[in-house]
Amino acid sequence: MKTKANLSSKNSIPVRKVLKNMFYEAAKNRPIVFLAYFIQFSVSLIRKFQIIVLPKFLIEELLAVYNGDEPSAHLQRIVFLVVLTLGIMFFGNILDGIANWIKNLSQEWFNEYFQVKINQQSMSIDFECTENPQVLDQMNKAKEGMDWYSGNVCGILDQFFSIVTNIAGLIGVITILMFSSPLVIIFQIFSIACFTFFNNKIKKIELESFKNLAKSNRIFGYLFFELSDFSYGKDIRLYDASNLFTKLSSKHLDDQTCIWTDRLIKTKKQNYKMNFSNLICNFLIFCYLGYKVIKNLITIGDFSMCVTASNDFTNCCQAIVQSVQEILKRTNYVNEYLKFMEYPVALPKGTKSVVLDKPHTIEFKNVSFKYPRSEKYVLQNVSIKIPNAQHLAIVGLNGAGKTTFIKLLCRLYDVTDGEILIDDINIKEYSDDEYRKLFAVLFQDFKLLAFSLKENIAFSPEVPDSQIDDVLKLAGLYQDAQKLPKKNDTCIYKSFDETGVELSGGQKQKTAIARALYKNSPIVFLDEPTAALDPLAEAEIYEDFNKMVGGKTAIYISHRLSSCKFCDQIAVFSEGNIKEYGTHDQLMQIPDGIYKEMFTTQAKPYLDKQEN
Ligand code: ADP
Repeated sequence: MKTKANLSSKNSIPVRKVLKNMFYEAAKNRPIVFLAYFIQFSVSLIRKFQIIVLPKFLIEELLAVYNGDEPSAHLQRIVFLVVLTLGIMFFGNILDGIANWIKNLSQEWFNEYFQVKINQQSMSIDFECTENPQVLDQMNKAKEGMDWYSGNVCGILDQFFSIVTNIAGLIGVITILMFSSPLVIIFQIFSIACFTFFNNKIKKIELESFKNLAKSNRIFGYLFFELSDFSYGKDIRLYDASNLFTKLSSKHLDDQTCIWTDRLIKTKKQNYKMNFSNLICNFLIFCYLGYKVIKNLITIGDFSMCVTASNDFTNCCQAIVQSVQEILKRTNYVNEYLKFMEYPVALPKGTKSVVLDKPHTIEFKNVSFKYPRSEKYVLQNVSIKIPNAQHLAIVGLNGAGKTTFIKLLCRLYDVTDGEILIDDINIKEYSDDEYRKLFAVLFQDFKLLAFSLKENIAFSPEVPDSQIDDVLKLAGLYQDAQKLPKKNDTCIYKSFDETGVELSGGQKQKTAIARALYKNSPIVFLDEPTAALDPLAEAEIYEDFNKMVGGKTAIYISHRLSSCKFCDQIAVFSEGNIKEYGTHDQLMQIPDGIYKEMFTTQAKPYLDKQEN
C-alpha cells in the first residue's frame, strides 16, 4: 500500500525500476519504437563494417594495381566494394531516417502523455500534499525531468539501445585489434579511463545545477504564468505590486544566471582536461602503428583498418560510458517523476456507497485537528450532531476554525483525533468518489476557471442550456448571463478568448453558487457564500437557497449574522471549539454571550442609523 513514508525522498537511483517502467510504457503505448531501435541497431553494425573493414580491402586492391598488377584482374572486386560502400551509405541513411521519424513522433507523444499523467496525479494526490512546498517542488522536478531534460521513454530507450549497439560494435572492433595490433587496446583503455573520470564529474555538476534550479524555476513559473491570470491584475495595480514582482523576478533571474554560469565554467574545465588526455593517447597509437608499417609487420590496408578500428574503439567506449552516465542522469530525472507518482492518492479509501436521494445526519464526535506540519490544534474536542435536513449556521471570529470544520467534513484532511460520522458510519469507510457526491460545497476562496460560464457551472460543455439557465435564475445571474457576448458560452477571463469577460465580484460569487446548485447534492455547505454581495442580493440568495435546500442538510458559515435567522440552529465557534449552540433567540438570551456581542456589534450601525 502507498503510505506517507513514500513521501520521504530516497537517494538511491533505482535504474532497474526506471528501465522497467519506461519499457513498460513504450510496450503499452508505442510498441513501434522497438522496431525503430532494431532498425538503428542493424544499420549501425553494418555501417561499422563499411567504415572499418571495407576500406582495408579497397586500399589493398588499389595498392596491388599501383604496384603493377593487371587492373582488369582487380576491377570487378573494386567496383563491387565501391557499390557495396555506397549501397550501405544510401540505404543506411534511408532506414535511419525512417527510424528517427518514428522516434521523434513517439517522443512528442510521450511528452504530452507524461505531462497529462503528472497533471492527473497532482489533481488526485492527498489534498494536504498540495499545500506542502516539498510536494510542489517535487511536482516541478517531475514535470521538468520528463520534459526538456528528455528523461522520458525515448530519452531512456535511446541510451539503453545505444549501449547495446556499442557493446556489439566494441566486440567486433576488439576482435579486429586483437589479431592485428593488441597494444592499441591498452592505449585506448587508458584514454577511456580518463574520459570516464572527467565525464562523471561533468554529469555531477549538471545534476547539482538541475536540483538547485528546481525551486527558483517554480517561483519563476508562478511569477510569469500564474500572475498573467487577469484576476490578479487589479491587486497588482492598486497595491503597486509590480515593483515587488520585478524585484523578485530579477533576484531569481540573478540566482539562475549564477547557477548557469557556475555550471558552464566547471564543465568547460573538465572538457579541456578530457580532450587533452585523448590527444596524448591518439599520438601514442599513431607512433605505434606507424612503427609497425615501417617494420613491415602490417600492410597499409591493416594500418588504415587499425586506425579506424582504434578510433571506433574510443567512440564505442565513450558512447557506452556516456550512455551509462546519461542513463543514470536520466534515471534520476525519471525517478523524480516516479517519486511524484507514488505520492498517496487521497486519504485511505473505504468501500461503502452512499444513498443520494435522502437527507443525512452528520455527527462530529470529540474531533480534534491540527494541520500537517503544525503543532497547534485548530479544532479541539468538537462534538456536534446535525440531524436530517437541519439548516445549521456556523459563526465565529476569523481563525476560529469554521472553514477547517467544513474541510474535515469534506475529507480534504483526516481528523487527528475523534471521528466524523455520516448516517452513523465513519466517513473513512465511504468510497472517496461516492462520498464526494454527497456534498455541494461553496468555499469563500472558490476558483473560477478561464473556461465558459457553462463549463464553470457544470464542468462539461455538453449540458443543455435550459439546465444551466435554471440554476442561473436561482443564483440571480440569469439576466446578466443573457447580456454576455456568447451568453452561457462566454469565456470567463480573456486568457484564451478575446470575447472573454471579467465578472464582478458579486457575479463571480453567484456563478460559484450556481455551480453548487447545479451539483444538486443532498448536503450543502456554504462558506461565506455572499461576502461579495450587496444586502439585497444576499437576502434574495438566502431565500432561494432556503427553498432549494428545503429538504436537505445544510451548513452555512456566515459573517453576516442577520442571515442566520434563515437557519434552524446556530453554532458559535471560538478558539477551536463550539462555545454556544442554539437558535437566534436562545443565543441572544445568554448574558455576555459571544453571539450576542457579535450580533449587537454588527447591528449597531443600522440601529444608530434608524435612531438618527
Ligand atoms: P475560519 O474559517 O474560522 O476563519 P480557519 O478554519 O480557516 O478559520 O482557520 C483556523 C486556523 O487554522 C487559523 O489559525 C489558520 O491560520 C489555520 N489554518 C488554516 N488553514 C491552514 C493550513 N492549510 N495550514 C496550517 N494552518 C492553517
